[in-house]
Formats: sequence, C-alpha cells, structure tokens
Amino acid sequence: MEIIDSHAHIYDEAFNLDRDQIINNCKEAGISKILMPNCDSQTIEAMFACEKKYPNICIPMMGLHPCYVKENFEEEIANIEAHLQQRKFIAIGEIGLDYHWDLTFKAQQHIAFHQQIEMAIQYNVPIVIHSRESTEDCIEIIKKYPRLRGVFHCFSGSLVQAQKIVAQGFYLGIGGVITYKKTNLTEIVQEIPIENLILETDAPYLSPVPFRGKRNEPSYTKIIAQTLADILTVDVESIAEISTNNCKKLFNL
Ligand SMILES: [Zn+2]
Repeated sequence: MEIIDSHAHIYDEAFNLDRDQIINNCKEAGISKILMPNCDSQTIEAMFACEKKYPNICIPMMGLHPCYVKENFEEEIANIEAHLQQRKFIAIGEIGLDYHWDLTFKAQQHIAFHQQIEMAIQYNVPIVIHSRESTEDCIEIIKKYPRLRGVFHCFSGSLVQAQKIVAQGFYLGIGGVITYKKTNLTEIVQEIPIENLILETDAPYLSPVPFRGKRNEPSYTKIIAQTLADILTVDVESIAEISTNNCKKLFNL
C-alpha cells in the first residue's frame, strides 16, 4: 500500500529532535512521499535540508503563505520568484487568503495570491491553496484562471463550495478534521468524486483522532485513509491507490 501525505511541514522545528524516527514511521505506515508547503523566506533553508536528507521522500514546494504576508511582502515575493528561476518545484504553495487571524494585510494577501497564481501559470505547476474563512473569495479568484490547477488544502467549506471547486477541476485536501465528530466533511466526501480527493496531515497541526490536540505527523495519513474508507465503505487499499494516483497526477510526480 502506498500513500502520499500531500501537505506536511516536516521541516518544522517541532520535529527537530526525532525527525529520523518520524520518517521511519512513514516507511512502516506505507507513506511514500511527504509534500512540503513553504511558508516564507525563513522556512526555505530547513525545507531544503529535509529534501537533501530524505531525497525522493520529502519534496518541496515554493510559495508565500498568506499568514506571512506583511509589510515586506514584495521582497518575499521577489525571493519566491528567484527560487523558481533556479530549479523545479512540484507546486506553488502554500498560498491563498486567511481572514481568521488578522485582516491588517488583507489587500496585500490578495496581491500576493494573484502574483503567485501568475507564477504557477508561467511555470506550469499546480497551486496549494490555504483558505481560512476565505473559501468563497478563493473560488472566485481561481475561476478567473481557467488553465490553473491545484488543491484546496485542508478544505473547510460547504458542500456547494466543494462542488464549485471540483467543477474547476481542482482537488480537495482531506486531513485530520475528517476524524472529528462535528464535521461536514463526512457528508461532503460522499457527494464529491473520489477522483478529486487527496490526503494530507498538515503536520505538525490538526492531528486526527485519537491524537487530536497532540503533535501531528505524516504517518497519520494512514488514519485519514482508513477514516475515508470507513465512510465510503470501501477498503483502505483502494482509497490509498486512488488518492495516491490523484496526487501523482496533480503534482506530476
Ligand atoms: Zn500548511
């Protein structure tokens, strides 16, 4: 069984003491790859170090996370662009809009999102969208770019929004939230084609049950796969196979 964790911050300092063990846990759980979203210029070095230490397992993206869009975002965007010119990345991510924490830089978040979408089109790579309390705005934006592909990472919208996303040919990233009692994801995944779903942890955040509240890790993608299999009453092997194929197709792996 092969499973891909399509979104994990494995380079985060939360894993500094036992990262080898965490990668070993992945091997035992059948997690073949960990796709790493970038946050800003401060996370790039640690992300590249993971890629170097765990080649073909930890695979980097490049992008400026909306929560890191501040006064200096133009410099940050220039840095992203410089990295894109130097080498290949599987995706631009994570990018998008976050209205939950702080609206001070909302206008700048929009500019940064649009600029990075343009880069994704230029380099012909998908985008990984972070959309917190901003799903509707993100959907309206991607609709303006018919050639754009990507995923709504840790999707948290309504069924209608999920259907709009799928209609654009985009994917939904399904993570630990699907194991929580109070979630509309249980209903949503039954209505959405499985060909539009990929699995993720968002480690070290958003641990699935029974680890909720504790540090998350990529090997828990298997719990997500099992939960999805239980909801859809299919076996976990077919969930693994289909979601892995979806992931390979989207990210050209
Ligand atoms: Zn993330």
